[in-house]
Amino acid sequence: MIIQYQDLTQSKTVGPVDVCIIGSGAGGGAMAYYLARAGFSVVVLEKGGYYPPAELGRKELYMLTRIEAPTIFTPATGEYSRVSLIAGQCYGGGTVASESVTWDLPKVVMEDWVKLGLKSFDPEKNPKLEAYQAELNKLLSVKPVAMEHHNRCNQILAIGAQREGIRWKSSDRPVDFCFRCGNCTQGCHYGVKQDAANTFLTWSHKFKTEVYCGAEADRVKINFPTEADYPYSEKLKAASGSAKDDLLRELASRKNGALAKFTVTARVVDAKAPAPRKGGLDYRSLTVHSHNVVMAAGPVATSRILLKSKINPNGVVGTKFSTQPGSMNMARFPQNIEIRGWDGINDSTEIYHYADIFRNEPYYDKDKHGFLCESALSLPWGMANILPGAGKELLAVMKDLNHWSGIEAIIKSDAYGRITEDDIKIDISERDNEAMTFATWVIGRVFFRAGAREIRTALPGLTLKSPNQLDEIFKYRFQNGKRKGFMVKQANLYSGHHFGGAIMGADRTSSFADDTGECHDLKGLWVGDGSSFPTTVGVNCAMSIMVVARKIADDFIAKVKPA
Ligand SMILES: Cc1cc2nc3c(=O)[nH]c(=O)nc-3n(C[C@H](O)[C@H](O)[C@H](O)COP(=O)(O)OP(=O)(O)OC[C@H]3O[C@@H](n4cnc5c(N)ncnc54)[C@H](O)[C@@H]3O)c2cc1C
Ligand code: SF4
Repeated sequence: MIIQYQDLTQSKTVGPVDVCIIGSGAGGGAMAYYLARAGFSVVVLEKGGYYPPAELGRKELYMLTRIEAPTIFTPATGEYSRVSLIAGQCYGGGTVASESVTWDLPKVVMEDWVKLGLKSFDPEKNPKLEAYQAELNKLLSVKPVAMEHHNRCNQILAIGAQREGIRWKSSDRPVDFCFRCGNCTQGCHYGVKQDAANTFLTWSHKFKTEVYCGAEADRVKINFPTEADYPYSEKLKAASGSAKDDLLRELASRKNGALAKFTVTARVVDAKAPAPRKGGLDYRSLTVHSHNVVMAAGPVATSRILLKSKINPNGVVGTKFSTQPGSMNMARFPQNIEIRGWDGINDSTEIYHYADIFRNEPYYDKDKHGFLCESALSLPWGMANILPGAGKELLAVMKDLNHWSGIEAIIKSDAYGRITEDDIKIDISERDNEAMTFATWVIGRVFFRAGAREIRTALPGLTLKSPNQLDEIFKYRFQNGKRKGFMVKQANLYSGHHFGGAIMGADRTSSFADDTGECHDLKGLWVGDGSSFPTTVGVNCAMSIMVVARKIADDFIAKVKPA
């Protein structure tokens, strides 16, 4: 059942339920389905609104401001970098706003995680991982885009890469029968994109899952910590003798008085209503008593809810935040070539020759490879935000956009930042700068090979008119002996791929959860979204998040019995 503001005449209290999931995106949606199917009573709180396919459409700005976080681009800044973060905010989360390019969770990444102590992620020793992946690919109808369905922009990438002799492929996508309308980032009006809304969440309703939309979870309250919940029972551990007996009695009395171990508080608003000029939207209070809580609000919100709730064991919450920054390069083609990059599937081809998945191949250079190049030209408003340049220069490109093609580089960053209650700090690393610079050069070569007349690179102010100028890209790495290139705030970096903030790890002093996704220090509290990832993955990540959520759901089922 989907419950919205209009369905509530007054404040409401729910539960006790087995699980309260905060966030309904890639991770939260998958967990809702698998836990409900296993017989657990599940309530999902989703901050964004519910938009059935009929309400999704081509009005770009209108849709983006509804299915994505209202600011659309949230700045994450560091000492010298600025990365604009984009995230979905609706029933189905980022999967609804996504171009839905799909990759399996890479084995090399799982191997990294095993080295970090996440033993159950060993693909050699845990055959279930492969089974989860195969199951999800089948359930979500993941298949490559047919050759004849690539639009001009994507054909340009394919032609250029072919001529360069580097590996490219048709992207895999979870789509049942694509109408190629080109509106993936506005949500799929035809309901054929197999996002979390059309799949897991819809399926979970068969098992009586309740999803509250417009419901922003505010805090998670712990009603009674148990002796196992270090550090929340730190006092208990420190106490001895009669003091310990007193404390045990106090905890037991709290347990008997509370409906469940956790209480989650939320405000339900009409998520589709325009923001009023003064004050906030009218709201209903919602209180959910739950035996377990799964944090799945995306890394930024998951960290912030925990911090606000003062749940921050060993100060780890908000740390190890990572992203996969992207940068957009544009190329102008002759006037007799109508490209119209926004028509047809936006993102259907990728150059994966330099992807991290090939890190064990002899040609792979770890200092400058580790990126994907995708053709992802979309509708004009979104493009104006990520195209290189500003002012008159940007206006000139926008006016002539149907003769321009775009290729973005997405890098597997090794940099970490931090999320606090009111700030997000991140700086790209020197290696990231090298990889992004090399990726810009590769994209430049691909464009010129495909017949481009001019390239506006993602490096601030660098326009190339001929292949002879390509080496200019490398000169941008240094200025007055200092490293620059993409390590400046003017570089237009953005990312929809976010990780960390409540990572899994073996060591409770440096990680939030164990490899089953349950908090080391507070039993019954789980993390089921990208927040749990200790590293970036180097590929488009929604499927990786679903695979991990699928595993966490199975681990949950093995550990917890429905009440
Ligand atoms: C425009 C765009 C394009 C993308 N394209 C691709 C792509 O082609 N391929 C790919 O693999 N990935 C893509 N991604 C990334 C992918 O969608 C995300 O990585 C993925 O959805 C993240 O999953 P998650 O579960 O961590 O969080 P999300 O899917 O973001 O889900 C979190 C949910 O929690 C909700 N929430 C936040 N705060 C609260 C709160 N306080 N209370 C209740 N609910 C809350 C949010 O509204 C959101 O719905 C794209 C992302 C964007 C934004
Ligand atoms: S391009 Fe295909 S998957 Fe994307 S919105 Fe259109 S019909 Fe849906």
